[in-house]
Amino acid sequence: MNDEQPICPVCGKTLKYYDSVPRIVRAKGRQTRQVKIQRFRCPHCGGIHRSLPEYIFPYKQYESEIIRGVLEGFITCETLGYEDYPCEMTMLRWKSSQELQMLL
Ligand SMILES: [Zn+2]
Repeated sequence: MNDEQPICPVCGKTLKYYDSVPRIVRAKGRQTRQVKIQRFRCPHCGGIHRSLPEYIFPYKQYESEIIRGVLEGFITCETLGYEDYPCEMTMLRWKSSQELQMLL
């Protein structure tokens, strides 16, 4: 467990634990698994914020870096230096994925 205190992205105050909600994430090989997402409430603005840990990326850690790079546009099919970089279709799918965008 990560007991680092999350911070409200709106007002920068320390968030208080609110509840946790189940969430289905895709893993490799068409498998799915359920993870618990903790939600936190800001005592200042009352906003509910989710904690989105790195592991929710449906890929391995180093691949999440690649996903980030693709979404931010500095990794393309022509980018050298990335082994196992995704094919163009995969990149397009990532770019159109609201869910992944939210994770950044
Ligand atoms: Zn707040």
